[in-house]
Amino acid sequence: MRPREPAKVEIHCPACGRDAWLTRKAQYDGFTKVGEIVACALCGHLFDSEADIPYKNSRTPKVFTEADRPRPVQIFNEDEKGKMCRYCAEYVVNPFVQRCALHQREVEATDTCPHFRPKPPPEEETDGLSLGPL
Ligand SMILES: [Zn+2]
Repeated sequence: MRPREPAKVEIHCPACGRDAWLTRKAQYDGFTKVGEIVACALCGHLFDSEADIPYKNSRTPKVFTEADRPRPVQIFNEDEKGKMCRYCAEYVVNPFVQRCALHQREVEATDTCPHFRPKPPPEEETDGLSLGPL
Protein backbone atom coordinates (compact mmCIF):
# COMPACT_ATOMS: atom_id res chain seq x y z
CA MET A 1 0.00 0.00 0.00
CA ARG A 2 1.33 3.39 -0.91
CA PRO A 3 1.51 5.94 1.83
CA ARG A 4 -1.03 8.66 1.45
CA GLU A 5 0.42 11.75 -0.17
CA PRO A 6 0.59 14.35 2.58
CA ALA A 7 -1.16 17.58 1.88
CA LYS A 8 1.15 20.35 0.81
CA VAL A 9 1.88 22.59 3.71
CA GLU A 10 2.49 26.10 2.54
CA ILE A 11 5.19 28.15 4.14
CA HIS A 12 6.94 31.40 3.52
CA CYS A 13 10.52 30.35 3.52
CA PRO A 14 12.85 32.69 5.43
CA ALA A 15 15.87 31.33 3.58
CA CYS A 16 14.79 31.86 -0.01
CA GLY A 17 12.05 34.36 0.72
CA ARG A 18 9.57 32.59 -1.48
CA ASP A 19 6.22 31.07 -0.90
CA ALA A 20 7.03 27.43 -0.84
CA TRP A 21 5.88 24.27 0.78
CA LEU A 22 7.39 21.81 3.17
CA THR A 23 8.98 18.54 2.41
CA ARG A 24 9.20 16.04 5.20
CA LYS A 25 11.41 13.01 5.20
CA ALA A 26 11.47 10.51 7.96
CA GLN A 27 14.85 9.82 9.41
CA TYR A 28 15.59 6.28 10.41
CA ASP A 29 18.19 4.82 12.62
CA GLY A 30 18.13 1.28 11.34
CA PHE A 31 14.41 0.53 11.44
CA THR A 32 13.62 2.99 14.13
CA LYS A 33 12.20 6.28 13.11
CA VAL A 34 14.24 8.85 14.95
CA GLY A 35 12.92 11.99 13.49
CA GLU A 36 11.89 13.95 10.50
CA ILE A 37 13.76 16.23 8.21
CA VAL A 38 11.61 19.22 7.41
CA ALA A 39 12.83 21.36 4.59
CA CYS A 40 11.80 24.01 2.12
CA ALA A 41 10.80 22.34 -1.12
CA LEU A 42 12.32 25.13 -3.19
CA CYS A 43 15.70 25.77 -1.63
CA GLY A 44 16.14 22.86 0.73
CA HIS A 45 16.48 25.02 3.82
CA LEU A 46 16.21 22.79 6.87
CA PHE A 47 13.98 23.68 9.75
CA ASP A 48 15.31 22.53 13.08
CA SER A 49 12.04 22.34 14.88
CA GLU A 50 8.32 22.69 14.31
CA ALA A 51 8.44 26.05 16.04
CA ASP A 52 10.71 27.39 13.31
CA ILE A 53 8.38 26.55 10.48
CA PRO A 54 6.86 29.70 9.02
CA TYR A 55 3.46 28.29 8.14
CA LYS A 56 1.61 30.48 5.75
CA ASN A 57 -1.98 29.94 6.63
CA SER A 58 -2.42 29.04 10.24
CA ARG A 59 -0.15 31.73 11.62
CA THR A 60 -1.50 34.56 9.55
CA PRO A 61 -3.23 36.95 11.88
CA LYS A 62 -6.74 37.78 10.89
CA VAL A 63 -6.60 41.35 9.71
CA PHE A 64 -10.27 42.00 9.55
CA THR A 65 -12.70 41.02 12.23
CA GLU A 66 -16.38 41.58 12.58
CA ALA A 67 -15.68 44.55 14.82
CA ASP A 68 -13.76 46.29 12.05
CA ARG A 69 -16.64 46.37 9.67
CA PRO A 70 -18.04 49.81 9.10
CA ARG A 71 -21.23 50.38 10.96
CA PRO A 72 -24.25 50.13 8.77
CA VAL A 73 -25.48 53.48 7.61
CA GLN A 74 -28.39 54.56 9.66
CA ILE A 75 -31.50 54.12 7.67
CA PHE A 76 -34.26 56.68 7.94
CA ASN A 77 -37.64 55.64 6.87
CA GLU A 78 -38.89 57.43 3.80
CA ASP A 79 -41.30 59.65 5.63
CA GLU A 80 -38.70 60.93 8.03
CA LYS A 81 -36.15 61.36 5.29
CA GLY A 82 -38.71 63.33 3.31
CA LYS A 83 -38.85 65.95 6.04
CA MET A 84 -35.22 66.17 6.99
CA CYS A 85 -33.72 69.63 7.00
CA ARG A 86 -30.93 68.62 4.67
CA TYR A 87 -33.47 67.99 1.95
CA CYS A 88 -35.37 71.18 2.65
CA ALA A 89 -35.35 74.25 0.44
CA GLU A 90 -34.77 76.40 3.52
CA TYR A 91 -31.68 74.50 4.60
CA VAL A 92 -28.60 76.67 4.30
CA VAL A 93 -25.11 75.39 4.78
CA ASN A 94 -22.14 77.59 5.35
CA PRO A 95 -18.73 76.59 6.65
CA PHE A 96 -19.64 77.17 10.27
CA VAL A 97 -23.26 76.47 10.72
CA GLN A 98 -26.26 74.83 9.18
CA ARG A 99 -29.27 77.05 9.31
CA CYS A 100 -32.92 76.96 8.54
CA ALA A 101 -33.67 80.08 6.52
CA LEU A 102 -37.32 79.81 7.38
CA HIS A 103 -36.94 79.74 11.16
CA GLN A 104 -33.66 81.63 11.30
CA ARG A 105 -32.12 79.11 13.58
CA GLU A 106 -29.40 76.54 13.66
CA VAL A 107 -30.39 73.10 12.56
CA GLU A 108 -28.86 69.69 12.09
CA ALA A 109 -28.93 68.05 8.70
CA THR A 110 -30.91 65.22 10.21
CA ASP A 111 -33.46 67.40 11.95
CA THR A 112 -36.98 67.06 10.77
CA CYS A 113 -39.41 69.90 10.49
CA PRO A 114 -43.17 70.18 9.99
CA HIS A 115 -42.57 73.18 7.70
CA PHE A 116 -40.44 71.14 5.39
CA ARG A 117 -40.37 72.32 1.81
CA PRO A 118 -38.66 70.07 -0.72
CA LYS A 119 -35.47 71.42 -2.14
CA PRO A 120 -35.46 71.89 -5.91
CA PRO A 121 -33.51 69.26 -7.81
CA PRO A 122 -29.86 69.53 -6.75
CA GLU A 123 -28.36 70.53 -10.05
CA GLU A 124 -25.72 72.95 -8.88
CA GLU A 125 -25.35 71.42 -5.47
CA THR A 126 -21.81 70.68 -4.54
CA ASP A 127 -21.08 68.01 -2.09
CA GLY A 128 -19.34 69.22 1.01
CA LEU A 129 -18.49 72.72 2.05
CA SER A 130 -16.72 75.26 -0.06
CA LEU A 131 -13.56 76.41 1.61
CA GLY A 132 -13.46 79.73 -0.14
CA PRO A 133 -10.32 81.74 -0.78
CA LEU A 134 -7.57 81.12 1.70
ZN1 LIG B 1 13.34 28.17 0.75
